[in-house]
Amino acid sequence: MELARAGRPVDHVIADLTDLRAGDVKWSEGKTFGMVYDGGPGVHDVAEQAARLYLHENALNTKAFPSLGRIQSDVVGWTAGLLHGPDTVAGFLTSGGTESIQCAVLAARERGRAERGITEAEIVLAESAHAAFHKSAHMYDMTVRTAPVLPDWTADVDAMAELVGPNTVLVVGSAPQYPQGVVDPIPEIAALAATVDANCHVDACMGGFVLPFVEMLGREVPPWDFRVDGVHSISADIHKLGYAPKGVSVILHRTRELRKYQTFVFSDWLGGFYASPNLQGTRSGLPMAAAWAVMQHLGVDGYVDLTRQTLDNADAMRAGIEAIDGLRVLGDGRLHLIAMTADPDSAVEIDVFALGDALLSRGWFHDRQGPPDTLHSTVSNSNTGVIGQYLVDLALCVAEVGTTRTADRSTNYATLE
Ligand SMILES: *Cc1c(COP(=O)(O)O)cnc(C)c1O
Repeated sequence: MELARAGRPVDHVIADLTDLRAGDVKWSEGKTFGMVYDGGPGVHDVAEQAARLYLHENALNTKAFPSLGRIQSDVVGWTAGLLHGPDTVAGFLTSGGTESIQCAVLAARERGRAERGITEAEIVLAESAHAAFHKSAHMYDMTVRTAPVLPDWTADVDAMAELVGPNTVLVVGSAPQYPQGVVDPIPEIAALAATVDANCHVDACMGGFVLPFVEMLGREVPPWDFRVDGVHSISADIHKLGYAPKGVSVILHRTRELRKYQTFVFSDWLGGFYASPNLQGTRSGLPMAAAWAVMQHLGVDGYVDLTRQTLDNADAMRAGIEAIDGLRVLGDGRLHLIAMTADPDSAVEIDVFALGDALLSRGWFHDRQGPPDTLHSTVSNSNTGVIGQYLVDLALCVAEVGTTRTADRSTNYATLE
């Protein structure tokens, strides 16, 4: 394929792009459970206007763009406040949860090397911890020791303790973990990390902009944030239920000294002194500015309202699923993540992947996951107003699928195409 020599008019180019999108999931209709988190028209408006202002700005150099330095420190500060960080907390913005986790993993490795002389660094986590930890270990040449989860899907801390040793630089807990949406026992995980002076990272990519507001709504939330002694770092994605457009997450460290282990400085280059806070070089100011604008626009009250709506959506969805013979929900059913699976106690054995195909033909998109075979939903305000219709369609699809199985057993959280 070759790029044509002649350029084309704007309206032709945009018309083609619009056509290209025709086969994409229809998230704006609320029929996608995850990936796009829709905060409503006001949030779109403020994000789009901020995006237009910052589309071309480069966050590489905050001396040239001091506004982006200010935006970063505001967003990091507000997030630290929501997560009850002490005054010493220091953080950076990153491009997403994966990058925040990579920064946390690198910081743990570097601290282990500097303070404990560890050259063969190990991470201890549960099998529910996000794949981004394994990706980070792969990139940074570290070993992952994986413990099972308990029957309630939380990390088995006793099993993790068996895996912790002198080379452990990082022990991970999730708040909540992605597959079943349960919060790990963070105080026990932090205490375990402390036994060998390893870092404890709390992956709140999914919960960072949910759990603080769930707590404000008066629902019980297990301890998970900087109020837990021994938590070194936390990742929280604004581009999930923080309702900012994609490309922004926060990595927080309990102190500036801990944060220093994730940064890179280099002075032996003809290009001059080079310092970088995260994994990127040149990067857009757009996601940072849009996140700032969305957070300002919503305020705590706006987030509490969106969280109330999200929990209402998730509760209605869970109750409806449980009411259908042959289906059940895994986990404690408290938060916004739903893992729907076949009920082993039912007479009809439903193949949830076949069910997922039937739902997709009616426009409903779930990620497949497993083991065990489940359809995953990250419920948000995006799904407001459609849960009733979803449950009607779900019951129809269950009847339609019956005991049919699909040959396609793939689970696809992300793709390489
Ligand atoms: C989404 C998610 C991540 C990874 O974040 P990306 O923004 O997709 O890179 C990590 N951990 C958890 C628990 C998540 O839900």
